[in-house]
Amino acid sequence: FLAFGSFATIVIIALVIRMSRKRLSPLGELAIAVRKREFVVHYQPIIELSSGLCVGAEALVRWQRPDGTLVRPDLFIPLAEQSGLIRPITDQVIDAIGRELGPLFRKHRSLHVAINFAADDFKTGRVLETVGHRLGNHGFANDQIWLEATERGLMDIDEARKTIAEARTRGYSVAIDDFGTGYSSLQYLQSLPLDALKIDKSFVDAINRQTATSAVIAHIIEMAKSLSLSIIAEGVETREQAEYLLDHGVEFCQGWFYAKPMPAADFIDYVETSLQR
Ligand code: C2E
Ligand code: CA
Ligand code: CA
Ligand code: CA
Repeated sequence: FLAFGSFATIVIIALVIRMSRKRLSPLGELAIAVRKREFVVHYQPIIELSSGLCVGAEALVRWQRPDGTLVRPDLFIPLAEQSGLIRPITDQVIDAIGRELGPLFRKHRSLHVAINFAADDFKTGRVLETVGHRLGNHGFANDQIWLEATERGLMDIDEARKTIAEARTRGYSVAIDDFGTGYSSLQYLQSLPLDALKIDKSFVDAINRQTATSAVIAHIIEMAKSLSLSIIAEGVETREQAEYLLDHGVEFCQGWFYAKPMPAADFIDYVETSLQR
């Protein structure tokens, strides 16, 4: 009876564990993914429009499920931001960049990597310690590191100004991401010591479409130039878009017309062949 009792207990515990796994909340699943380090990074080449050469990459996180499927960041980053899990995820992204791109970046000093930061990463200045420590150890020079923050991430303007100023003192560049999708004004932009502005894909999509939005991109470009900011256009999918951007004095872009985000090994090949040409 005793033996049967303990057997039954084991079966019940096993069943409960199985059921609770199945019913795990999205947050519970994300927490397990963090613990198991299930995040991988893909790299999208950043191209100098005038030469067509690759000058670096944006690091874009994906959640790789145990079955190998990749989950897009917009499906889990919001939850990660709300719950505070974004911090360990950011750390895992930075670790991957160091490990995967260290040798390439020690060899090609002109390359840079752009890293996405959430409001929570940026507000406290925590990013600076993390980046300095984790990428410095792999031989990255600080001027090879670009920090990207969205308008939302820079909402607390005093904190943002402090973090950006400190970042630039250390030699990092700071870009405002998805510019134009929030509420920021020229005045807001002017008050931050930024290096670069990234034009959101929605504006690039409107190029040559004769819609209300197509006038906006010219305006954003003028604004960035008047503040001496570098400009990176994202989501470039056609030759016409690339030509428009080049004609309007935009320096850099990224998009499927040139290359999609790819695993580190492919990006390393891409850079080596791009630089040999
Ligand atoms: P984002 O920073 O605006 O990144 C650009 C997004 O546009 C990426 O989507 C990229 O794959 C996509 N993209 C680039 N070129 C093209 C194109 O020509 N056509 C189309 N249709 N799409 C293009 P992805 O990788 O799905 O990332 C989505 C967002 O998730 C990012 O938007 C960023 O806000 C966030 N994210 C990605 N990685 C990280 C990360 O490590 N940390 C944080 N906090 N956020 C991240
Ligand atoms: Ca970005
Ligand atoms: Ca962006
Ligand atoms: Ca975007």
